[in-house]
Amino acid sequence: MQESVMKAWWDSSHMAGANAAYVEELYEAYLEDSQSVSEPWRQVFDNLPKVDGVELETNHSSVKEQFRKLASLGPAARMSGGAASEAVSDERQVKVLQLINAFRFRGHQHANLDPLGLWKQARVRDLELSHHSLSEKDFDTVFNVGSYAIGKDSMSLGDLYKSLNRTYCGSIGAEYMHITDTEQKRWLQQKIESVEARPEFSSDEKRSILKGLVAADGMEKYLSSKFPGAKRFSLEGGDSLIPMLKGLITEAGAAGTKECVIGMAHRGRLNVLVNVLGKNPSVLFDEFSGKHDESLGSGDVKYHAGFSSDFATPGGNVHLALAFNPSHLEIVNPVVMGSVRARIARRSDDNNRVLPITIHGDAAIAGQGVVQETFNMSQTRGFAVGGTVRIVINNQVGFTTSKIADARSTQYCTDIAKMVQAPIFHVNADDPEAVQFVTKLALEYRNKFKKDVVIDLVCYRRHGHNEADEPNATQPLMYQKIKKHPVTREIYTDQLVAEGVLEEREAKKYLEDYRNALDHGACVVEEWRPMTEHSVDWSPYMGHDWDTDYDGKISLDKLKELGEKITTYPEDYKLNSRVNKLYQDRKSMITGDKKLDWGMAENLAYASIVQLGHDIRITGQDSGRGTFFHRHAVLHNQGDGGVHIPLQHISEEQGEMEIYDSVLSEAAVMAFEYGFATAEPNCLTIWEAQFGDFANGAQVVFDQFLSSGEAKWGRLCGLTVLLPHGYEGQGPEHSSARLERFLQMCADHNWQVCVPSTPAQVFNMLRRQMIRPMRKPLIVMSPKSLLRHAMATSTLEELAEGKFHNVIGEIDDIAPENVKRVVMCSGKVYYDLLDQRRKNEQTDIALIRLEQLYPFPQEECAKIVAQYSHVKDWVWCQEEPQNQGAWYCSQHHFWQAIPDGAKLTYAGREASSSPAVGYVSVHNQQQKALVEDALTIK
Ligand code: AMP
Repeated sequence: MQESVMKAWWDSSHMAGANAAYVEELYEAYLEDSQSVSEPWRQVFDNLPKVDGVELETNHSSVKEQFRKLASLGPAARMSGGAASEAVSDERQVKVLQLINAFRFRGHQHANLDPLGLWKQARVRDLELSHHSLSEKDFDTVFNVGSYAIGKDSMSLGDLYKSLNRTYCGSIGAEYMHITDTEQKRWLQQKIESVEARPEFSSDEKRSILKGLVAADGMEKYLSSKFPGAKRFSLEGGDSLIPMLKGLITEAGAAGTKECVIGMAHRGRLNVLVNVLGKNPSVLFDEFSGKHDESLGSGDVKYHAGFSSDFATPGGNVHLALAFNPSHLEIVNPVVMGSVRARIARRSDDNNRVLPITIHGDAAIAGQGVVQETFNMSQTRGFAVGGTVRIVINNQVGFTTSKIADARSTQYCTDIAKMVQAPIFHVNADDPEAVQFVTKLALEYRNKFKKDVVIDLVCYRRHGHNEADEPNATQPLMYQKIKKHPVTREIYTDQLVAEGVLEEREAKKYLEDYRNALDHGACVVEEWRPMTEHSVDWSPYMGHDWDTDYDGKISLDKLKELGEKITTYPEDYKLNSRVNKLYQDRKSMITGDKKLDWGMAENLAYASIVQLGHDIRITGQDSGRGTFFHRHAVLHNQGDGGVHIPLQHISEEQGEMEIYDSVLSEAAVMAFEYGFATAEPNCLTIWEAQFGDFANGAQVVFDQFLSSGEAKWGRLCGLTVLLPHGYEGQGPEHSSARLERFLQMCADHNWQVCVPSTPAQVFNMLRRQMIRPMRKPLIVMSPKSLLRHAMATSTLEELAEGKFHNVIGEIDDIAPENVKRVVMCSGKVYYDLLDQRRKNEQTDIALIRLEQLYPFPQEECAKIVAQYSHVKDWVWCQEEPQNQGAWYCSQHHFWQAIPDGAKLTYAGREASSSPAVGYVSVHNQQQKALVEDALTIK
């Protein structure tokens, strides 16, 4: 700003005469938080002229400099009085505003959060009066409190200081000043400061909280006396979680929520199952005694079990689903979020109808990267769920690892949440009313701003990691303290008795009633209701086997109609020239002028599926276009960057078509899609890896959920996973999707592993996945070079046939009786073999393609093999090294498939620790050699 302009403005403004240093500080406070200065000053600063059109905020150092200069101009400029308001004429006023700000920013560092009192809190000087040049001598002076939302404009410093301490340094440590959005900050300040973080609870509410604590404590004590030494991963120390969750669900229901999906690890899970979800205690006791439900495959330990029920609230019943959970702590979170996304989509209305609640451990939330992945996903188009309420059971120890120095490098275990500017409420779990307050606040925040919010329930763990563990061995001081520490129920009972809310004998009666209910094995949750609110019926998909009949046929006319739809886009759309060419080619494929390629067949499959009314959801790192430029399901207008998805314009009644390029994650995205697919059978849910080996990053999800979820938990899942695979000289990382790993996990007909080799096959494979009334995961080794391979084409008639062939026999005119060797293979190598055999003009070798490696198609194979019953020389040919691919994992099936007395040999790369070589020339040599080997009859 020009000095003359500044001076003119200064002289003419009502600031003339005010103390420049004071104004300068006020201005700084305004820049930090505009609400921290009083309204007249805010108006002044809001109306400051702009420098070359730029807001002064961006250049405030120059403004400060001007203030300083003006202050030195002489008595006229420094003169006090003028039009400045009385409340702000004192320089201390600014200090008071800064004091308020300091409490908002750093009050949590002095809050009383640790029930054990072991946290060593650093002294925060900003919270001391002296830091702000104030002292107790100023206590009687009345100051303007700026935006401090206590409901008064001014307060004596003494009252204000007490109020700030009560609000920000009591049992709640509120961290929200990292949020840049002023509306959110103001909203939170209003909610917290107006009640000094301690609202009044009615007697009924207090009793209800106590009952929750009685249940939490009673349950653990009961289990410990009935099943001493049994692992139960007790909640003790974090007992407030029970009234907290019940409060959260009740408030959510009152606000219109219809379903809550909860994810939590083992700590306190049995307690939540019985005391929140209403699992019948007698069923749990049976499980402790070793009884189990025979109908559930291989089953799982009781502290991983999921559960579903309904819960009565003032707003109607809320459906509760506790997700099944493996030991890999945080991985269930994206599963929960995916499940919620599916439920929101099904309800097709406000996302406040479905609430995700994730319960974390302090060591895990800080330690596991998937937490960061879920925060990163939380506001993206394809993965947002309107915010998750995240609760940390912060018992200050991870198994035997202490929080300080070993478990993390951040002050709080929740610091990761700041990456999305989520508010974080640390709360002392021994103050259950404070816990209720922040829980309600968190829910309101989530529902209003549709963002994640975190509650850090600071507690302790009364026993070892499990009940048989000896915690004193590693945390001696902590456990000496814990031994003497009363349980939360006792602390709260004493409080209520002292407040006159109830008498001691009533509290005792609560205990007796609870124990009696457990003795009777009755449900102990008053709000429990039988399930009616869940929104999907899985029964049509139950009890079907692989041979279940389905009609996959589709007429040629329908294919042509769909083909036209998927090649139509707005007339004014200017496509990229390569995309335009591709779309022109697709048009010729419908007229029959060209044979269909992979991309066209795949898009036609999607069109036919949504046209049948099923939904489709595809995510992956580059799914819209396709890693290898083949899909182009999303068109980008080169003129204005607009986006058009032809598959969304098939018909009025079509299913939803969603396709998103995902965040750059495998674990969380894949887990999200698993969660989605286990909650929605009517959607073809597809996760696509950019390259097949990227599935490594999601290995936990394949191992713990996808391959075994049905066996462990009886949960069906139709997730389709597309993993680009094929040896094309692209080096160790981009050649193999590690087929062997998927085959190694095959058993119990848990999933399908397919390697389709033609456009018609991919078309019919995708349709089969939806039309056949069964939901099993589908692992696909999808192609790369085959996407544009001249031989890998199909006709419309082949698509219309409507059948996925698990095995494909010889296509050339090779008379079976002349055949001396049969080569079996899967995937791209088939075309190398076919091409070379044609070049060699060999007629004594037949080629059989296995398009589905698991479940192994014995019967279909037997029909084809029957023509070659005289052949003794059988070969399995693969591109992968011998220790990889299908050779070892599927060999027993191959032996079973070939005629009795025949021999089976291997043609492929030698065993290797790396999936592929890095040098193209070596790759080419190897590829040539393995094809030659397969085609050379010795
Ligand atoms: P939820 O909405 O997840 O609580 O599920 C409600 C009920 O639907 C469960 O109790 C199961 O009986 C059934 N169900 C939910 N998901 C699946 C699934 N993926 N496979 C089979 N049954 C399911």
